[in-house]
Amino acid sequence: MLPIREMAAWSAASYFPPVAQKQAAINKQRVVAKPYAGYFSLDMEIPTSAARALQHGPMKAEEALTPSEADLNRLISEDYHTPDQGYAVLEGLTTYVQSRVVMPGVTTEVFRWWFTWHPLEHERYTLWFPHAHIANSVADPSRLADTSLTYEERLYGNPNRVRELVGSNELDINIRFMAPEELGFDPKRLAAAGFTASASGLVGHGDHPDAVMSMMVHLARDTNAGLELISRYWIGGHPALRRFPGSEHTLDGLKAAGFNEAIVLGAAYELALHDTLEFNHLAKILPLLHARFA
Ligand code: ZN
Repeated sequence: MLPIREMAAWSAASYFPPVAQKQAAINKQRVVAKPYAGYFSLDMEIPTSAARALQHGPMKAEEALTPSEADLNRLISEDYHTPDQGYAVLEGLTTYVQSRVVMPGVTTEVFRWWFTWHPLEHERYTLWFPHAHIANSVADPSRLADTSLTYEERLYGNPNRVRELVGSNELDINIRFMAPEELGFDPKRLAAAGFTASASGLVGHGDHPDAVMSMMVHLARDTNAGLELISRYWIGGHPALRRFPGSEHTLDGLKAAGFNEAIVLGAAYELALHDTLEFNHLAKILPLLHARFA
């Protein structure tokens, strides 16, 4: 029998495709002259529990949530319990990812600051995931930067154009952040559950910006341990996404992104790993970045 070592709480990330290793070296050079260069760190770690949770194959589709209004509201109900990490393939060749990350030292205010600060320079986006993030810009930078407006006024209806690697696949996407109620969440239930910030919306391809290729949910609330972030992603032609304008272009967007039956399961795993890496890394650097630059 092998000797048993004490399980460490955190594990170094061990899987970066060569294209991501190369991107990390490029990004490191890109930030050298920036005032935040000292916050660019290639030391990516995730909780060992999260690493192990993603090592045993997909969840059963029936244990996952769909992007229907009923399931969105189930996500925020008190009696909904599910593992913190998971991935699956759902109806309509839909990649599904779920995650929950607690970010010590991060608050609603800090979370909102991040989503209004980082898209103003491509290089800021690389801090979040140095091996995978290439560029992020916003349609109206002056509105995003306008501190006289609310977070919602700055971000919603002001799409982010993102280039990033998920696994070794480079994505060019257009994220339309919007109010959670526009996606189908009941605002009363959101408030009752204590959610105070959201970075959620519909995602299209760079060449088909209005296509509904994906729904992305990031809901956050303050807890004694730090900001609790609940995330869900659905990429694909799930029937429940057909309620949104732009779903008539779903297939165009997916085709342009190279998304197909052969890769859907691998894409779900890669996205689950990407999410876990980026949000645990953000948790580490965000309180420091906020203290220095906010
Ligand atoms: Zn990312």
